[in-house]
Amino acid sequence: MTVSVVLYTADLRVHDHPPLRAALEGAQEVVPLFVRDPAVDRAGFAAPNRLAFLADCLADLDRGLADRGGRLVVREGDTVSEVRTLVRQTGADEVHMAAGVTAFAREREARLRKALEDDGCRLYVHDGVVTVVPPGDVLPHGSDHFAVFTPYYRRWTAEPLRTPLSAPASLRVPSDVRSERIRRRSAVADVSPGLAVGGESEGRRLLGSWLARHLDTYQERHDDLAGDVTSRLSPHLHFGAVSATEAVHRAGRRGGEGAEAFVRQLCWRDFHHQVLAARPEAAGADYRPRQDRWRRGADAEADLAAWREGRTGYPVVDAAMRQLAHEGWMHNRGRLITASFLVKTLYIDWREGARHFLSLLVDGDVANNQLNWQWVAGTGTDTRPQRVLNPVRQAKRYDPDGSYVRRWVPELADLDGPAVHEPWRLTGLDRASVDYPDPLVELPEALERFRQARSAA
Ligand SMILES: Cc1cc2nc3c(=O)[nH]c(=O)nc-3n(C[C@H](O)[C@H](O)[C@H](O)COP(=O)(O)OP(=O)(O)OC[C@H]3O[C@@H](n4cnc5c(N)ncnc54)[C@H](O)[C@@H]3O)c2cc1C
Repeated sequence: MTVSVVLYTADLRVHDHPPLRAALEGAQEVVPLFVRDPAVDRAGFAAPNRLAFLADCLADLDRGLADRGGRLVVREGDTVSEVRTLVRQTGADEVHMAAGVTAFAREREARLRKALEDDGCRLYVHDGVVTVVPPGDVLPHGSDHFAVFTPYYRRWTAEPLRTPLSAPASLRVPSDVRSERIRRRSAVADVSPGLAVGGESEGRRLLGSWLARHLDTYQERHDDLAGDVTSRLSPHLHFGAVSATEAVHRAGRRGGEGAEAFVRQLCWRDFHHQVLAARPEAAGADYRPRQDRWRRGADAEADLAAWREGRTGYPVVDAAMRQLAHEGWMHNRGRLITASFLVKTLYIDWREGARHFLSLLVDGDVANNQLNWQWVAGTGTDTRPQRVLNPVRQAKRYDPDGSYVRRWVPELADLDGPAVHEPWRLTGLDRASVDYPDPLVELPEALERFRQARSAA
C-alpha cells in the first residue's frame, strides 16, 4: 500500500482542498493529520475563543472524513517530530500541506522539509489553499509586495481563479494509526458566551444561506451596525473551514454590485497576507514608522482599561467593545471605530489594541489583525494615515437610530433614537437616572493632541 500524509493547519475542510486531492491521487491510503502543537499556542494562538472554535472545526472535519470512509488523526507535540514519527510508522512517502504565510508557518515548513528529506519522504506545499491568490504571485515592478490596496486589487481580479475542487467521494486511512481524542469545545474555559459554532458543515451552511439572503444588498448594507448583515464568515475563513476561493467563485456566479463588493473584501484578506508574507516583522513593528511617542503611564493605563471594558463614555465604542467580549467577534465598522478611538483619540499604541483583539477575536489572525490595526493607526498601508474617525459622527451615520448601541449598552436602553449616542447632552434628572460614565476625553482636545504628536514627527 502506498501512503500519503495530509497535514492540516489553517485549512480544516474536505471541500476544495488541493492537498487532500493530491494525496489521494498519489497514494492508496491517506492519513489526514492535525497536530496540536504547543508552539502554536506559545506563538499567541491560545485564546479560548479560537481554541473552542478549533475544537468544533476538528470534530466536524473528523465527521466529514468519516462520511467518506476516513477519519482525522490527531497528535499532540512538535509538528515536525509528530509528522516524522507518523511517516516512519506508516511508510508514507509523501506529505501534503497548505502553504502558510506567517513567519512561524514558514519556519515550520522549512524544518519539516529538511526533516522529511533526511527520511526520504517528499513534502508538497500547496499554494492557494489559505488565500485566493498566493502571496507573491502578483507583484508590482521592483518590489516584493504591493503596499497599496487598489493597484493590488486590479491585478488580483485579473488573475485566473482556480476552479474549486469537490470533496473526495471516499478515502482509506490505515487502520493501525492511533489518534488522540479530539478535545471538545466544552473543555475550553473562559469562552465568550455568544461565540459562534465552528466547523465546515456550519461554515458551508452559512455561506450558502448568506449568499442567498444578503449578497445582493451587501454593497449598501455592509456598514449597517445594527443590521448586522455582513457574512460573519471570517472565523470560518480563518480556520479554513470555508475556502476563500470557493466563496469568490460562488459570489461571482451570482454577480452584481453586492458580489463585487464582497469579493473586494476577500481581496483585502489576500492583500494583508501578501504584505505579511513579504514583511513578517510588520506583525509587531511599524510598517511605516511615524515616530509616535504613544502615551504611557498610569493615565494611559486607565484609559486602556476603560476601552477594553467598554466604558469610555462614547456609546458606540463601548457597544462594539462589549460585542467583542460577548461574541468574540465584532462588526468591521465597530473594529474601525474602536481602533481609531484607541490609537488616535486616546493616542495609545496600536499594539495594545491588537493584543486585546487577539485575546478575544475568534477570527483573530496575525495578517488581518495586525495589519488592519496598522492601517487604522496610520503606520500601515492607509494612503491617508492622519485620518481620525469621529465616534459620534460614525455612530450617527452607521447606527442612525441607535439600535446597535441599545443592544449592547443596556444602561442606555431607555434612550430613544440617536440621542443614545450623546448621553452627556442629557440634563438634570434625566442624566442622573443614567448610570453611564462621562466621556474619557473631549474629542477636539484629543484631535489636537494627535495632530500635534504627528506633526512633531
Ligand atoms: C482593527 C481591525 C482588526 C481586524 N482584525 C481582523 C482579524 O483578526 N481577522 C480577520 O479576519 N479580520 C479582521 N479585520 C477585518 C474585518 O473587520 C473582518 O474580517 C470582518 O469584520 C469579518 O466579518 P465578516 O466575515 O462578516 O466580513 P464580510 O464583510 O462579510 O467580509 C467577507 C470577508 O472578507 C474579509 N475581510 C473583510 N474585511 C476585511 C479587512 N478589512 N481586512 C481583511 N479581510 C477582510 C474577511 O475574511 C471577511 O470574512 C479587522 C479589521 C480591523 C479594522
